[in-house]
Amino acid sequence: MRLAERAKNISPSPTLSIDAQAKKMTAGGIKVINFGAGEPDFDTPENIKQAAVQAIAKGMTKYTPVAGIEPLRQAICNKLAEDNGLQYEPSQIVVSSGAKHSLYNAFQVLCQEGDEVILPAPYWVTYLEQIKMTGAKPVIVPTRVEDCFKLTPAQLQSAITANTRLFVLNSPGNPTGVVYTKAELEALGEILEKNNIAIISDEIYEKLIYDANRHVSIASLSPGLKDLTVVINGVSKSYSMTGWRIGYAAAPQPVAKAMADLQSHSTSNPTSIAQAASLEAITGTQESVQKMVAEFAKRRDYMVDRLTAIHGVRCNRPGGAFYVFPDVKALLGKSYAGEAINNATDLARVLLAVEHVAIVPGVAFGDDNCFRLSYATSMDNIREGLDLIEKVLKALQ
Ligand SMILES: *Cc1c(COP(=O)(O)O)cnc(C)c1O
Repeated sequence: MRLAERAKNISPSPTLSIDAQAKKMTAGGIKVINFGAGEPDFDTPENIKQAAVQAIAKGMTKYTPVAGIEPLRQAICNKLAEDNGLQYEPSQIVVSSGAKHSLYNAFQVLCQEGDEVILPAPYWVTYLEQIKMTGAKPVIVPTRVEDCFKLTPAQLQSAITANTRLFVLNSPGNPTGVVYTKAELEALGEILEKNNIAIISDEIYEKLIYDANRHVSIASLSPGLKDLTVVINGVSKSYSMTGWRIGYAAAPQPVAKAMADLQSHSTSNPTSIAQAASLEAITGTQESVQKMVAEFAKRRDYMVDRLTAIHGVRCNRPGGAFYVFPDVKALLGKSYAGEAINNATDLARVLLAVEHVAIVPGVAFGDDNCFRLSYATSMDNIREGLDLIEKVLKALQ
């Protein structure tokens, strides 16, 4: 059977092969320390689960409006007003089957062939694939570890052409944990507004933020920027609800309508029961978020301290999310146990084969001098895994 060109252009996730091998080893009885997790290692809070149970008992088991039930869309508006200083009407909110789905809808209605989309690297790999699916051209702009992986206004300016339609912003960011300050966003925002470039602002890690860092939505900086921005958020990461599949977008009316229309002919409404649970997540007690953030902060500090103590490793202290993204450029070109380590992909392969530690090589995010370690795993695993990573990195010669 012939596959459409569209299907041939989709790359499989580059993180999958390490993950598949790690799972195979685990199934074979080998203990693998896995730093690959892309989801919180906490259970969904009890009040949220109970809301879902009650939704079933009450018969909330039928189709809902395509863009989500009215109380949830209203609660999202209230949340955006309180947390982010953003005023939206429920008709500007589209609830979808996960933030990834919201992103898909947004790229589909905003981009087409001939358009260029500016994507700072390291990036979450799904952006790249979703941009390609629209026929638009991704324009990847590498950021530097020395700049804490932040795109500078000069870099943004020089990436803009007459065809630039869209800019992708992810703060707090995956994989680097980067958090842009208000001043930094204002500088980028000024350029974007002047050039009339739309923005997809993925704010899914908003609540997983540490120290004095504060999350600022670029849409809140001026009415002009709000008119150019699609805000993406969801409950997956903040409330340990990755399996429930609820994300949402807030956008100017015509964009929200187009996204809902697209969704009406693909998935229709997201699961009614998960919507009820998400309503409780957003409006109920936020205690579990604070507990999770406190635990993540401890793990992050431990990891960064251990990594920066290793000669040749550069590691920023990320302001948000649950990943560290160390740079090992200075150690590449050496070897371990007779195996050449020329990039993070080699390092990941050897670490898994020899020491049974799974990391995600930076090639998955557009920078193979680095690798991603998730701290959504127990402190015991983190300690043991870092002992082994340290052992390997110190033995490179
Ligand atoms: C996990 C993640 C998402 C997707 O969240 P879902 O709601 O589970 O689809 C979106 N963006 C980034 C950067 C993520 O890491």
